[in-house]
Amino acid sequence: MKKSLLKILFKNQEYLINSYLDNNQYRINQLIHAIFVKKKFNIQDITTIPKKIKNSLEKEFEILNLLSIKKNISKDGTIKFLFKLSDDNCIESVLLKDKNNRITFCISTQIGCKMNCKFCMTGKMGFIRNLDYTEIISQILYLSAIVNKNFNIVFMGMGEPLDNYINLYKTINILIDKNYFGFSISRITVSTSGIINGINRLLNDFPSINISISINSMIKKTREELMPIAKNNPIDKLFSELYKNHKKYKNRFTLEYVLIKNKNINIDEIYEFKKLKNKNAFLINIIPLNNINEINIIKPNEKEIKWFCNKLIESGFKVTRRYRRGEDINSACGQLYWKYQ
Ligand code: SAH
Ligand code: SF4
Repeated sequence: MKKSLLKILFKNQEYLINSYLDNNQYRINQLIHAIFVKKKFNIQDITTIPKKIKNSLEKEFEILNLLSIKKNISKDGTIKFLFKLSDDNCIESVLLKDKNNRITFCISTQIGCKMNCKFCMTGKMGFIRNLDYTEIISQILYLSAIVNKNFNIVFMGMGEPLDNYINLYKTINILIDKNYFGFSISRITVSTSGIINGINRLLNDFPSINISISINSMIKKTREELMPIAKNNPIDKLFSELYKNHKKYKNRFTLEYVLIKNKNINIDEIYEFKKLKNKNAFLINIIPLNNINEINIIKPNEKEIKWFCNKLIESGFKVTRRYRRGEDINSACGQLYWKYQ
């Protein structure tokens, strides 16, 4: 198995490729320029490096440690990629285009997920392993070569980003580093099932990062039923920490709410929302469920969706509704992977 050349991004931390490049920083800079600016992902295509060095590099290294094996293009422009990793596991990434033609990359951080949320296909896979930061960066590089304009990044693909903190941390540092992507932190969103320690740590490391919390129910019992992780991260503690962070960092949290028929669309949920102390600290994003072949987990009808959204708006919240992009290509969490398997 070849090693990822992207390890050069963390000199001294990983094995060195210096011996191949005669300890030459100039050569390393050429490589970085070829990969990050020219988007050359094939060692032989890098014209600035002498053939002899390329040949020896190629024996041991590859630039991206994933291979695109399937691509689905939706009518609305969403493109979903299935990537095969060097150990033959698969992950998916999605390129989304909104109605204003803004582009967002939805990136995976794990193969599978430990959290076992009842409505989620990735949760049903169980957990296979964490992605290494080079595998996360490889997804971003691959997609960035397809679009030649600005994009946003959401860590909302497969897996729980805060359960793979070290690789998420390295990835974000590479993204914001001017030598590599030079990305603005305000364009990055991390979506989490609500791991309290992880949220605090992430904000401590990156105060201006955007955080979305998959809340899915405001009622303790329902939330714990849908999302087992909530048992160790109780909702009252979660919100008291979010308030503290809001005070400290002046940020606004997005609360993601997947609507599930007969589960979390009722007036009791609205009452719990109304109890929130600072409505301005939150933006609520409503996501109608994508069906996952479960008897008790089914999507609501349009009337139920509208009722819930209106009740929240009447209660003084800022609400957005996610019209599922790419529904015709199984673009919901984990769906392409399952079809392929
Ligand atoms: N683990 C993180 C990020 C990945 S999940 C998290 O839970 O936030 C990304 C989003 O997909 C979450 O907001 C989750 O609630 C949503 N999701 C999962 N299964 C879904 C389904 N069947 N239909 C619609 N949204 C779903
Ligand atoms: Fe994991 Fe997020 Fe799916 Fe829950 S919703 S199982 S945390 S990927």
